[in-house]
Amino acid sequence: MRGSADDGLNEVKFRDPARARALAGALTRLTRAIDRRPISVMHVCGSHEQAIAKFGLRASFPRALDVIMGPGCPVCITDVPEVDEAVVLARQGVRVATYGDMLRVPGTVASLADARAEGAKVDVVYSVSQAVELARGLDEELVFFASGFETTAVATAAVILADPPTNFSVLSAHKYIPPVMEIVAEMPSSRVEGFLAAGHAATITGWGVFEPFVARHGVPVVVAGFEPLDILAGLVQLLEIILEGTPRVVNAYPRCVTREGNLAAQQKLWKVFRPVGGRWRGIAHVPNGNLRLKDEWAAYDARKRFAIDLSGLWDYAPSALTSQCICGDIMAGISSPSDCELFGRDCVPESPVGACMVSSEGTCKIWHQYGGHPDLTTVSV
Ligand code: SF4
Ligand code: SF4
Repeated sequence: MRGSADDGLNEVKFRDPARARALAGALTRLTRAIDRRPISVMHVCGSHEQAIAKFGLRASFPRALDVIMGPGCPVCITDVPEVDEAVVLARQGVRVATYGDMLRVPGTVASLADARAEGAKVDVVYSVSQAVELARGLDEELVFFASGFETTAVATAAVILADPPTNFSVLSAHKYIPPVMEIVAEMPSSRVEGFLAAGHAATITGWGVFEPFVARHGVPVVVAGFEPLDILAGLVQLLEIILEGTPRVVNAYPRCVTREGNLAAQQKLWKVFRPVGGRWRGIAHVPNGNLRLKDEWAAYDARKRFAIDLSGLWDYAPSALTSQCICGDIMAGISSPSDCELFGRDCVPESPVGACMVSSEGTCKIWHQYGGHPDLTTVSV
C-alpha cells in the first residue's frame, strides 16, 4: 500500500485550467485503457458533490466514468427517529438548539421548524460552543441536537470535556463514516469499484483507517480534498489503481491528511463517544455507525436525562409523497436525483420532501441549485 501521492498538489495553485484539462485528458486515456463501461466510483462526501456541481466537473468526465454520490451528508443520513426525538423533546417544552440545516429535516410527522411554528423553543446555532454559551445565559435546560460526522463530533466531545454548564446536554445524532463504506461495499447491488474518501473526515481518522477496509473488500480508496484539481487528481489516481488491478489506499490530500490522523482529536472523540449500531436514513442499519455518549457522560446525555416518548408519533402515517422519496437509493449510489419523480416539482428546497433536498450538502439540493442536472454545466476551474 502507498501512503502519499503528492502529485505536485502541495505547490500548485488550485484553480489552474491547463492542469485541469491535463487531468481530464488523463481520465479519458485511463477509461479507454480500462476499456469497459461504466466504470463506477463513489465519492463519500457532500462537499465533493458540491465542488463537482459548482465547477461543472461532470462535463469533463469521460462518458464511461460514472462518479456516483454516496452517503456524504450528515444531515441527509440523520435517521427519522433521531429527528423525532428532537421534535418530541421540543414539543415537551424543552429548549432545543441545533444547526440551521437540521431545522427543516422532516421527521415522521414534523420537523423542528414545524415544532417551532407551533410555539416550541428551538434555537439555531452555528457551533456547539455557541449552544454552550446560550445555555450559560439561561435558567432552563438546553439540549443540543448534534449531527455530523467525526469532524463535528470531535467539537461536541471537546465541549463535553470542558465542563459545560449543568443545564446543557446533547442529543447525539453523530455518525462515523468508515462503517458505512463497509455497508455500501457489501450491498449486492453495489457497482462501486473505488472510493474517493472525504478529506475532512480523514484529517481526523488518518488514511490508515482505510487499509483494513481495502484488504477486506478489494476496493481501492483515494483520500481527496475539495478543490477541483484535488478531485480530478484523486479520480485519476483511482482509475490508475483500477487499471493496475492492485487495490490500495492512496492519500491524495497530503497537505491536510496523515496516516495516523489527528491523534489529539481522536483521543477526545473516543473518550466521550462509543460507536453503536443504528440506522442511517434511507440506507441501512450500520453496525458501529452511530456515535453515542459513553455512560460516564450520562449527565450530559439528553437520552438519559429526559424521558423521550416517541410512541404517540406512530399514530400518524407518513405522507404519500414521503413514501415516494428515493433518498436512500441516491445515497447508496443506486439512483440519481433526476430518477426521482418528485425532483424539482413536489420536492424543492423551499418545501423539501426528503432530507436530500434540505442540506447544502444534500445531493438533490445541490443538483437543484445547479440547474437540475449538473452534467450540462461547462468546466470553469
Ligand atoms: S462533514 Fe466534512 S467530510 Fe463529511 S460530508 Fe461534510 S464536508 Fe464532507
Ligand atoms: S428529490 Fe426530494 S423526494 Fe426525491 S429523492 Fe430527492 S429529496 Fe427525496
